[in-house]
Amino acid sequence: VKDHGTNNYCIYKPEMNNNTLDKIIMENDLKRAIDTREVIVYYQPKFDTKKNILIGFEALARWNHPELGLISPCEFIPIAEETGLIIELEKLVLEQACEQMKQWHEQGASSLLIAVNLSQRHFYQEDVLCRINGILEKSKLEARFLEIEITESMAMFNEKATITKLNDLRDRGIQISIDDFGTGYSSLSYLGKLPINRLKIDKSFILDICTNRKNEAIVKLMISMADHLSLSILAEGVESKEQIDLLQELGCIEVQGYYYCQPVPAEEAAKFLKADSVV
Ligand code: C2E
Ligand code: CA
Ligand code: CA
Ligand code: CA
Repeated sequence: VKDHGTNNYCIYKPEMNNNTLDKIIMENDLKRAIDTREVIVYYQPKFDTKKNILIGFEALARWNHPELGLISPCEFIPIAEETGLIIELEKLVLEQACEQMKQWHEQGASSLLIAVNLSQRHFYQEDVLCRINGILEKSKLEARFLEIEITESMAMFNEKATITKLNDLRDRGIQISIDDFGTGYSSLSYLGKLPINRLKIDKSFILDICTNRKNEAIVKLMISMADHLSLSILAEGVESKEQIDLLQELGCIEVQGYYYCQPVPAEEAAKFLKADSVV
């Protein structure tokens, strides 16, 4: 199991060695968990450090297992992708996240964005836009408040198909972020062709940005790329004031990270909505 900072996750099954039987057991368990809403959504706030305001939340899947407790997405997302359960799982996350954001809008926080992660398997499905449309209509959330995060490596998988898909989403008014940016080696010319709104600098570059000159230089370059392409840029994984100050100096003012808040349940996330709880 990866290091999850201060999150207290459990390991799905200590004796699990990735063998087929274990996978089948987990697949069935996960299927049941999606049906019974054991899979839930946590929210991590995103801030604008110049205006000192909350700009939105990222929705992150959690499995609240009755016996094992909270299970990290790093454990069940890969299995969900392998087995195809990811479609149902992400539908659940999208539904919950859009409905929650609609409620927050109705409570007065009417400019906040909700970001949802989309897997490669789901993104390239023929009917993905149709499914998202259905969810938007049902929740009555305006499309421009929904942001889809796709990883940089996913976006590089198939250039033509990616551009077509992204154009469909953009035509619908949905925003697009490139997640884990900097880990996928996309070129400026390719990025320039993508109809996207935002780059999310991968947290591996932020981790030691204050002590690693190379990473500082890379982040500087990413910020300049975003600038040239007229894209927004957000740094994820900010854990200290020093990182925030340096990022601001370099020109990156949108941030997300444990410094402010870990991903938390909706009730807890709601405390950031209050006008006086700005950063
Ligand atoms: P991600 O999309 O890159 O999400 C950011 C991850 O970084 C989250 O881990 C978040 O808790 C963590 N993080 C946030 N701030 C900090 C920080 O300051 N320091 C550190 N060290 N970590 C921070 P989480 O919630 O465990 O999610 C892990 C990954 O699982 C996500 O990475 C995403 O790739 C995947 N995931 C979660 N939900 C979904 C989903 O609905 N669909 C898909 N396809 N993937 C999902
Ligand atoms: Ca993400
Ligand atoms: Ca990321
Ligand atoms: Ca990631």
